[in-house]
Amino acid sequence: MIARAGIVYLVGAGPGDPGLMTARSLELIAAADAIFYDRLIPPGALDGARPGAELVYVGKAPGRPSVPQEEIGERLIEAARAGKSVVRLKGGDPFVFGRGGEEGEALREAGVEFEVVPGVTAGVAASAYAGIPVTHRDDASAVAFVTGHEDPEKAETALDWQALAGFPGTLVFYMGVKRLRDNAAALIGAGRDAGEPAAAVERGTMAGQRTVVATLGTLADAVEREGVGAPALIVVGPVVERREELAWLERRPLHGRRVVVTRARAQASGLAAALRGLGAEVVELPAIRIEPRIESEETLRAIERIGAGEYSLVCLTSPNGVRLLFEAMGNTGLDARAFGKGPELLQVVDERSGVRGEAPMGATIAAIGPGTARALAEHGIATDVLPERFVAEALVETLRSVDVSGKRVLVARAAEARDVLPDGLRERGAEVDVVALYETVREAPSEEAVEAAQSADYVTFTSSSTVRNLVEALGDRFPAGARIVSIGPITSEAARDAGLEIAVEAERHDIDGLVAALLDDVR
Ligand code: SAH
Repeated sequence: MIARAGIVYLVGAGPGDPGLMTARSLELIAAADAIFYDRLIPPGALDGARPGAELVYVGKAPGRPSVPQEEIGERLIEAARAGKSVVRLKGGDPFVFGRGGEEGEALREAGVEFEVVPGVTAGVAASAYAGIPVTHRDDASAVAFVTGHEDPEKAETALDWQALAGFPGTLVFYMGVKRLRDNAAALIGAGRDAGEPAAAVERGTMAGQRTVVATLGTLADAVEREGVGAPALIVVGPVVERREELAWLERRPLHGRRVVVTRARAQASGLAAALRGLGAEVVELPAIRIEPRIESEETLRAIERIGAGEYSLVCLTSPNGVRLLFEAMGNTGLDARAFGKGPELLQVVDERSGVRGEAPMGATIAAIGPGTARALAEHGIATDVLPERFVAEALVETLRSVDVSGKRVLVARAAEARDVLPDGLRERGAEVDVVALYETVREAPSEEAVEAAQSADYVTFTSSSTVRNLVEALGDRFPAGARIVSIGPITSEAARDAGLEIAVEAERHDIDGLVAALLDDVR
């Protein structure tokens, strides 16, 4: 059991970059019955929650009434007592300015068992992403995490400015932007050098991270001038200067570029991750959504034929198709072994006994491109036929090496795909079953994403259906200044038909090719 019933897990979700969530946090999110989450959790942090899990927002939004702390405690206790496994998900680390201690105490008092899952705390992570090591052999042998925003209900301030001014190391202030001017003055008044390097790191590890560097004496002005807002972290100490050498985020090739990804959410992650890895700020603006159709009569008949080993050739044209084909097969108890029984027989001779016999030759498996081949490999299937260019025409060409005349062939694909492949195979005498495993349906983009897309540098398109749907969905709010990047000629044609000008077309018609082409354009 990953998450036990009746337990509350106080889980840190890290500073904002989804990649900084711990393995333990992800497995608990996937297993929990109920998740109570805060505002500052990474985007997509809850994507892995199981369908049916109860997701409850208990965060504080500026200017809006928030759920009082006692009520959060009560709701955790209630959920645990109802026999649920409960995740309490917080930004950063639950025990670093996260009120995890209070929640743990309330749980203990109520006799509810809990577990603490530490998270990567912003003080360390935002600094590291800004190229500031909080300790350094030459500059700082100690680091202090300090709250810059005292509990307003406390009568007196608990911060000992004298002690902090004399602290022999780096000072890291959480929640420190609002009171930065007062706090800096208090530190300087207590004897800390006004000329000491200081930095504010805004939205550390998240899209649009920004760092402002000044001195303790001038940081408040700089922060005001630059309009630095929450969440931000203040770092004070000579280590801030190390940033000149150690800043790494800003040196990435796509740093400062905003790139729109228009793929369906389910498929977007690979492209989005690749772009983020190169430093881009990614706006996900899915124009379509994948609607599985694996219960259809044609699909069920095809699955039956797979089970009976009737196909000589099976063609897959997308990773989604692979995923859904295996899901449909799984529903009837079939797995990859079914492709081992093709209709053709091999003559075999047992060398020792000399006994002759026949063994079925498995179906030939063709994929349109490397992404599809990778999806097949995940199911233990090696691809036999893979064209050099990843379009249907090229696959038809490459399939000339396979004798399909009079053979039964399965083409598993999207409902609205072109008929180049099945037509090409039928011309050569194949008996082709075309199965639409999914339909791509229009998805209305969120207002937030449309807004963010307005200032995009690039809009990427990976299929003609995303072009058509996005252009229609956005109308005159299509980002006019963005350069359009297309995965290949078919997509480009659809874009031109929709009135767009193609700035970049990938030479290799897959995700890697698209990313490479975009990089070339930036350089
Ligand atoms: N438990 C959290 C801190 C919660 S207090 C942790 O361990 O990180 C909230 C404060 O944390 C914010 O006001 C800000 O100072 C800091 N913070 C959280 N996420 C941040 C981020 N991504 N970048 C910069 N500061 C951040």
